[in-house]
Amino acid sequence: MAIRPIITAPDPRLREVSKPVERVDDELRALMDDMLETMYDAPGIGLAAIQVGVPLRVIVMDLAGEGEEPAPRYFVNPEILDPSDDLSVHEEGCLSVPEYFDEVERPARCRVRYLDYDGAEQILDAEGMLATCIQHEMDHLEGVLFIDHLSRLKRDRVLKKLRKEKKERALAAAE
Ligand code: ZN
Repeated sequence: MAIRPIITAPDPRLREVSKPVERVDDELRALMDDMLETMYDAPGIGLAAIQVGVPLRVIVMDLAGEGEEPAPRYFVNPEILDPSDDLSVHEEGCLSVPEYFDEVERPARCRVRYLDYDGAEQILDAEGMLATCIQHEMDHLEGVLFIDHLSRLKRDRVLKKLRKEKKERALAAAE
């Protein structure tokens, strides 16, 4: 397993639409292992493959609380079936949008069909934090970031700040 660098906004790769996985094999499992380790190291609770620069429809997640046993989840080619009409608001953050958190409104519940770590088809009924996290990660597969759900003013402000920080880091590295 290896920790891979996480891509941060504004990077055009985060806008790519990820491709379906053709088969769940050892190579894909190695990617999922790396993604999980990268996510734990960050630390974060969810990571899509495109965030480490791989445009495949793969998500890893672990919503275990502090002091709880790790509970990794793997979603390959996930699809959302019948999202609920009722919405809920959760504060979200993203490893690709560092140090920014804001409230996003999404369907409160959804059913997800996906392939697991072994390539077996699974169906999961998600609600609360799990439903929010799945929808947030699924957005990444379409090239969408959680800040896209905010007002344009807020989004532009966040992106401007991130752009400035990237420039400052590049300058510091060049010195
Ligand atoms: Zn994210």
